[in-house]
Amino acid sequence: MDKMIHGIAAEGTVRVLAATTTGMVAEAIRRHGTSPTVSAALGRMLTGTLLLGSTIKDFDRLTVKVECDGPVGAITAEATKEGTVRGFVKDAVAEPPLKENGKFDVAGIVGSGTFYVIREAGFDIGFRPEPYVGSVPIVSGEIAEDFAYYLANSEQIPSAVMLGVLLGNTAPFVTAAGGIMIQMMPGANEHIITMIEDTVRHAPHVTEMIREGATPADLAKMALGIIDFEVLEEREVSFACTCSFEKAVAMVAGLGRKEVEAILAEDKQAVMTCGFCNETYRLNENDLRQILENYGKDSV
Ligand code: ZN
Repeated sequence: MDKMIHGIAAEGTVRVLAATTTGMVAEAIRRHGTSPTVSAALGRMLTGTLLLGSTIKDFDRLTVKVECDGPVGAITAEATKEGTVRGFVKDAVAEPPLKENGKFDVAGIVGSGTFYVIREAGFDIGFRPEPYVGSVPIVSGEIAEDFAYYLANSEQIPSAVMLGVLLGNTAPFVTAAGGIMIQMMPGANEHIITMIEDTVRHAPHVTEMIREGATPADLAKMALGIIDFEVLEEREVSFACTCSFEKAVAMVAGLGRKEVEAILAEDKQAVMTCGFCNETYRLNENDLRQILENYGKDSV
């Protein structure tokens, strides 16, 4: 089971988030059929968005999106307050050669472009203000550095971010995935910042640790070195989408009686695929007739 912790250190001036996301990333890869390099990129985005989401208050939906000129085209990830994420890419099968060191060339499929963070709130109470949108140029394309650059430059929060996806050759194709985000809050001691930066620079790969059974607390401990921390919250996290058959039916019904009658006469079915999770919903003749009958009841 994937887990995430939210902790504090140094009298609350340092915030630490850590997560294991192996199952979450495996589910995303299974649903979208992504190539290895795209899997690594999408997995890092999902993990980073999950961690970022757990530090931001007052949102219902947090979307992180890279719009880029590399082969993948765009990567979108969305997190909820409940610890679920979903996401997708524009081109699932883009695949460049490996880098000289044998690693996946994530920066190579991303290229340059813009990194967006979009916060939406107010759904619960039926109030929908304009979403808050922050953006920075893509500085690395390796994703973790882009999250850190966004936090430092758009939110004025100096941060250290590590995101990793270790792939295997057989299904579910993900051996380990996870990440750490350390944020320096106002008042953080310069000495502590330097210490953390130094520890992170020499840290082992998070994915190797997760493969060997490390928990989020183990990851946080590794990243903070000798600095003590307190875990404020631990929760289970997962890949989950908000789509459903009922929502697909409501969407078709929203087209109006004439349009539904035309679909029934011509195609005898309506097929919809959710962009976020790749789930396909099929409305057969009976489902379409039911929609038409319901119009009658509500005299639409
Ligand atoms: Zn969906």
